[in-house]
Amino acid sequence: MGKSDISGRFALVTGASKGIGKASALKLGEQGVNVAVNYNSSKSEAEDTATQLTDLGVEAFIVKADVSSLDEVSNMVDDVTDRFGQIDILVNNAGIISDSLLIRMSDEAWDDVITTNLNGTFYCTRAVLRGMIRRRWGRIINIGSVVGIRGNIGQVNYSASKAGIIGFTKALAKEVASRNITVNTVTPGYINTDTVDVLPQATKDRIMTWIPQGHFGEVDDVAYMVAFIASEKARYMTGQVVSIDGGMAI
Ligand code: NAP
Repeated sequence: MGKSDISGRFALVTGASKGIGKASALKLGEQGVNVAVNYNSSKSEAEDTATQLTDLGVEAFIVKADVSSLDEVSNMVDDVTDRFGQIDILVNNAGIISDSLLIRMSDEAWDDVITTNLNGTFYCTRAVLRGMIRRRWGRIINIGSVVGIRGNIGQVNYSASKAGIIGFTKALAKEVASRNITVNTVTPGYINTDTVDVLPQATKDRIMTWIPQGHFGEVDDVAYMVAFIASEKARYMTGQVVSIDGGMAI
């Protein structure tokens, strides 16, 4: 574990059992940050994240909560605060898709995506913010999506949830700027994860034509930006939407 300007701080990363959340948790761990690893259903994967973090020499433990449930989020933040004493860095990464054309979209598909992606971000942020305000230091790092900027056929619910996160970021950044708390969103394009792996080849080929760099990204491409935003080096950056997408949002 190398020394860094955030070494010894405490983070909560939602959806850190897999993909971008796991990579972000590990990049924070490499900076000496202690990490609470949230998961919902993938316990053994979350345990693997925590083990890898412990091997890096930081404190880590898993914490189960469905971020779309206000009660579960409250209990999670209480648990993490009890164990760590404080939460300095929150990465709102947990997210789902439930795709269909609007004309066929069920109420459930709409509600599931909005409550997990957008309400989850709200519940987790509100629960950790008071402590950050008191301590006059904090990092709220949201994971949006290029789709929240450009829109995408079949993803009205997901696009709305991710566009909502951008508005949330800008408004909250203004509210807490004077308290030395930054609020930013990283908007990945298509990143090699379970979600993208399962797309049919024809869909992947079509998406590729939208990406100037001509290939999908890797989870570490996003995680490096998360770790940078968490650091002291990014102290003057707030309310920003940073695309990590091979140029797709241009
Ligand atoms: P992933 O590999 O499918 O992982 C999703 C993570 O979110 C898992 O750890 C999952 O935990 C967790 N999660 C889902 N619902 C949850 C809930 N209700 N409560 C708590 N945790 C929950 O996805 P990913 O591709 O890494 O995506 C991570 C974030 O990046 C999402 O917000 C996604 O929208 C965004 N994103 C991804 C891409 C991409 O190309 N992959 C592009 C743009 C944006 P369990 O498995 O334990 O339930």
